[in-house]
Amino acid sequence: MEKHSTNTVWHHATVNRSRREVMNGHKSAVLWFTGLSGAGKSTLAHAVEERLYHLGCRTFVLDGDNVRQGLCGDLGFSDQDRQENIRRIAEVAKLMLESGLITLTAFISPFRAERQYARNLVPHGDFIEIYCNCDLAICEQRDVKGLYRKARQGDIPLFTGISSPYEVPEKPDLYIDTGISDLGECVERVLSVLELRGVINMPA
Ligand code: ADP
Repeated sequence: MEKHSTNTVWHHATVNRSRREVMNGHKSAVLWFTGLSGAGKSTLAHAVEERLYHLGCRTFVLDGDNVRQGLCGDLGFSDQDRQENIRRIAEVAKLMLESGLITLTAFISPFRAERQYARNLVPHGDFIEIYCNCDLAICEQRDVKGLYRKARQGDIPLFTGISSPYEVPEKPDLYIDTGISDLGECVERVLSVLELRGVINMPA
C-alpha cells in the first residue's frame, strides 16, 4: 500500500487495551475464520458469538458480505482488490483488538499470504486462525447463496474453489470439519480453544 499520510503521530490512549480487558472480564482476540464459500464461517462465527454473548463477553462479527457493502464497497475481486479488502479488515480487527473486543471475522481469505499479513498485524498469540474445512462438493450442494450455480455457469469470474484457488492453511490454530460435524460440536471446539488460550474463563 502506498502511504499518503506521513505527518502523523500515534496518540496513546490512557484507557488502553489491558484496562478494557479488566473491565470486560476477558481478553480480546481476533478469531479469523477461513474456508470456502458455504463452508460455514458466518454460521459458526455467529453461533460462537451467541454463546459468548450469554457468557457476558463483548464481541463483534466482521462478515464478508456486510463489509463488502460498506467499508469495502468500492472493491471487486481482482487479486489487488482482494488484498486491499483483507488489509482493511485486518486493520479494523486490529483496532477492535485494542478496543477490548473478541472479534470474529468470516472471510474466505483464500491466500496464505493475506492471512499471514493479518496475523502479523497483531501481537503474537492474539490471532486465532480457524480453518473451516468443508469439501467443495458439500459447499456446492449447500449453495447457500446460489453463487456456485452462477460460478459454474460462468457468471462469476474468479470464484474461489471453481476458477480461483483456495490455499489450505498449513498450520491453523484450529481445524474444524464444518462439512461433517454438527454446528454445536464446532462451537464447543472454538470455545475450548478460547479457554485454553486464556481468552475466556468458562463457568465451572
Ligand atoms: P460461509 O460463511 O462459509 O460462506 P455460511 O455460514 O453462509 O458459509 O453457510 C454455511 C451453511 O452450512 C449454512 O446453511 C449452515 O447451516 C450449514 N452448516 C451445516 N453444518 C455446519 C457446521 N458444522 N458449521 C457451520 N455451518 C454448517
